[in-house]
Order: sequence, then structure tokens, then C-alpha cells
Amino acid sequence: MRLGRAAVVTDTGRRRLGNEDAYVWGPPLFAIADGMGGARAGEIAAGIAAATFEEVLGRTMGADAISEVIADANRRIWERSLADPATAGMGTTVTVALVDEDGETVVFGHVGDSRAYRMRDSVLEQITTDHSLVAELVESGVLTPEEAERHPQRSAITRALGTEPAVEPDVFTVDVVPGDLFLLCSDGLSDMLTEEQIAAAIERAGGEPEAAGNELVKEANARGGDDNITVLLFEIVAGEPDPERTAALEDTARATSPDGPSKNAGDPSASPEPRPDEGLRRHGAGPGGRIAAIVLLVAILIVAALVLYWGITS
Ligand code: MG
Repeated sequence: MRLGRAAVVTDTGRRRLGNEDAYVWGPPLFAIADGMGGARAGEIAAGIAAATFEEVLGRTMGADAISEVIADANRRIWERSLADPATAGMGTTVTVALVDEDGETVVFGHVGDSRAYRMRDSVLEQITTDHSLVAELVESGVLTPEEAERHPQRSAITRALGTEPAVEPDVFTVDVVPGDLFLLCSDGLSDMLTEEQIAAAIERAGGEPEAAGNELVKEANARGGDDNITVLLFEIVAGEPDPERTAALEDTARATSPDGPSKNAGDPSASPEPRPDEGLRRHGAGPGGRIAAIVLLVAILIVAALVLYWGITS
């Protein structure tokens, strides 16, 4: 077996002013990160996580190496947050998938509430466990899964990269069969769509990664687009492993991202000025969207008044 088609789509959504999700596109390695923290701190944390993985692309890696890279990213974010008070408390989720050389297994590394799903024979299954308060309450029988989906604290995560000196990631390996389609996504998708809706969107796209990615983002926005949405899909197909074909994926899928290659990767300090609008809320409708709407409305009224005044006086 080998890696087949793949695609990534990231979108700001309909309520946020900026996109604090990041992704790594390095077939056969893929990752997404969803940052949290005040001002631009979430973007910085996600960017450091992505950059740490970008540095190791091309190396032969297994589960141990994935653990080490996650530990390294955690340390870098933690140290940056200590050195820069504006970023204190920042953190990020990370969900990484590495298709092994023979195409027989995929290694996953995971911290936080971004998710990995596997679609096999039209059945969608979540293969990561959310490190979130509501997931723990479901596990202990306090909440039903349905109650968890609507719970006001559903965005509270219990494990993140960079918020402590060390982190314990989930690292595990799954066997694959030809036709398996994997989806990595940030909670901007999974909070907006149920598993049934995610599966239906993938089916409508015929399981084609790029079409499915676009369909999922469109659906999440149609249902509110409360948060940044990142979806990364890749399929496993029959055939001999083909490193050249894997390398060629590099160009095709980069072209499918509206934001260009590896947003947030590299030096996050090169990004625009801080936005003091989001506090520590990562999820739900922050005040940023409403403020932007009011500013836009005022601007439109001023322009209208000027046009009217100009029309009367000229
Ligand atoms: Mg998010």
C-alpha cells in the first residue's frame, strides 16, 4: 500500500478575524495545530509547533521520533512563553500523522482536542481521544456524548502543547487497508458538524480529498463558522510504495490551500501586529466578529454620508 491523494484546506471561518490554526504539509508526514492564548499568542504557539515538525521533514521516523518532536515543540513553546510575557499561558493542540515507509501503518501523535478520523467502507470513526473536560466527563459517565456536544465548557482542554514544562502525548499506530481515508481537523470543524455530517460531506465529494476538504469547510461555515477550520485529508491506496509520487504530492496539495504553503510555520514573529481581541477564548463567538461588524457598519455610514454631502454640494 501507499499514500494516495491528499489535500489540506484552512479557513478563518466566519467569526474570527485571524486564523490561529497551522498545518504541516510534508508527505508522508502531516500535522495540524490549533493555537490558544491571548492576542497573537495562539498563532505563535501553533506556528512553533508547525515549525518544529517542518525541521524534521525528510527524516526516517517512527513512533519514538514523533514523541520526541512533540516533546521538543512543547519545550520550545514553554520556553518562549517564559521569555515573552505577552505570550504567557499560550499553547496549542497538535495532531500529527505519519504514513510509514511500506504504507502498512500510520503513526499518530496527539495532544488536545484537534481530531483524527478514519473513513473506511463509508464508516467514519474518530481515532484520537480528545484531551478535553467534556471527553473526560463522557468517559466517566457524567455526560452523554450528545450532552458533551452542546456543553458550554466543550472547548476546555485538559492537555496542550506548551502550557507545562513537559507534556504526555498520545502516540499510537493504526493498521490500514487500501481505500482508508484519514481526516485531521481542528475543532472549528468538529464543533460545527456532527460525525454524521462529516461523513455525509466526504461521501458527497466521492471521497476525493480536495473536494471533500472544500465541502467540509463550506459546511462548517454554513453552520456558523464559529472558529478557524482546518481539514487535512489523505488516502491509502493499493500499490507499491512510491517515494517519488509522495514527493510530488508536495506541489499538488500546497496548491489546494487558500492560504498557501504551511501557514504559520517558520518565524511567527514575522506575522502582523497583535490583536488584543480574543483573550483566552479559543472557541465560540468571541467579541472580535461583532466589533469588526460594527466598525464596518460605521465605515459604510460615513462613506454614505460623504457621498450624499458631495452630491448635494456639487
Ligand atoms: Mg479551534
